[in-house]
Amino acid sequence: MTVDRIPLAGVIGSPVAHSRSPRLFSHWLRKMGLQGHYIPMDIAADKLESVLRTLPDLGFVGCNVTIPYKERVMEIADHVSDRAVQIGAANTLVFREDGTIHADNTDGYGFVENLRQNAPDWDPTGGPATVFGAGGAARAILASLLDVGVPEIRLTNRSRDRAEQLREDFGDRITVHDWVQAGNIVEGCTTVVNTTSLGMTGKPELRVPLDALEPGMLVTDIVYTPLQTRLLRVAQDQGCATVDGLGMLLHQAVPGFERWFGERPEVDDATRAAVLR
Ligand code: NAP
Repeated sequence: MTVDRIPLAGVIGSPVAHSRSPRLFSHWLRKMGLQGHYIPMDIAADKLESVLRTLPDLGFVGCNVTIPYKERVMEIADHVSDRAVQIGAANTLVFREDGTIHADNTDGYGFVENLRQNAPDWDPTGGPATVFGAGGAARAILASLLDVGVPEIRLTNRSRDRAEQLREDFGDRITVHDWVQAGNIVEGCTTVVNTTSLGMTGKPELRVPLDALEPGMLVTDIVYTPLQTRLLRVAQDQGCATVDGLGMLLHQAVPGFERWFGERPEVDDATRAAVLR
C-alpha cells in the first residue's frame, strides 16, 4: 500500500523571520481541514539553486519567494511565465512532477483582487491612475493596472530615471512626472497608489501634498505596517474610498495555495485577523 505524501510548501528568502506567510498558510490549512505544512526557509545565496533542486525530493510542491531572491529564481527556473518576465521578478514557484520548476508572479493579481474585493465600485477604466514609486512592487502594479484597462498611468518617483525605465518597459500609457509634482498629478485621477516604502513603520512619512484628493477617487497604499498610513487617513478625511495594503499580501498567496494544496482559499475577515494576530 502506498501512502500519499503530505504536501509541503514554504517561503524562501533572507531574512524570512518577519514573513507573515506561514501564519496565513497555516490558517487556511487549518480552516479548510487540509493536510500540509508551510515553512519559512532562510537560505544563503550560494545555496539557493541546490536547495531549490532538493526541495521536491523532500516532498515540497512549491514555494513563495521573497527578498532578495525574486529575480535570481527566474534564472534557476525551467519555465518562467510571461507575466513574471514582464515584471522581472517571480514570487511563486511550482515544482512539477517531471522535476521542472515553474516561476510566476502573483503580486499584480493580489493588488487588483484586493481592490475588487474592498472597493467593488472601483472602475479602473474610468480615468487615469497616479502611481507613487518605481521600485520592484511598482512593476507588478503597473502591469496589473494596464491589464485591467487603466487608460493612463501618471508615474512619479524620487529617482526619475527608474520611472523613465518603467515607461520604456511598459509603454506609452505611462507618463513620467517629477517627484516634486507628485501632489499635482493626482488631479482628475480615479486611482491613486503608493508603492514607495514611505509611511512604513521605521521609514519617513510620505510627505506629498494631498489637497487634490477628492471624493470619487480610490486611494490605496501597498504599505501594510501600519495598516492605516497617513495617505489613507488624509484620503479618507477628504472623502475618497480607501483600501489598505494587507489584502494585496493575502490575495497574492491564493494562486500558490490552490496549486499546492488543491483548494482555493477565501480571503475574509478571519484571514486578516489570523495574519494580524
Ligand atoms: P523597492 O524596490 O526598494 O522600492 C522602494 C521605492 O520607495 C522606490 O520607488 C524608492 O524610490 C521609494 N523610496 C524609498 N525611500 C524614499 C524616500 N526617502 N523618498 C522618496 N522615495 C523613496 O521596494 P518594493 O519591493 O517596491 O516595496 C515597496 C513597499 O511596498 C515596501 O514597503 C514593501 O513592504 C511594500 N510591499 C507591499 C506588498 C503587499 O503585498 N502589500 C507587496 C510588495 C511590497 P527611489 O527609486 O528613488 O529609491
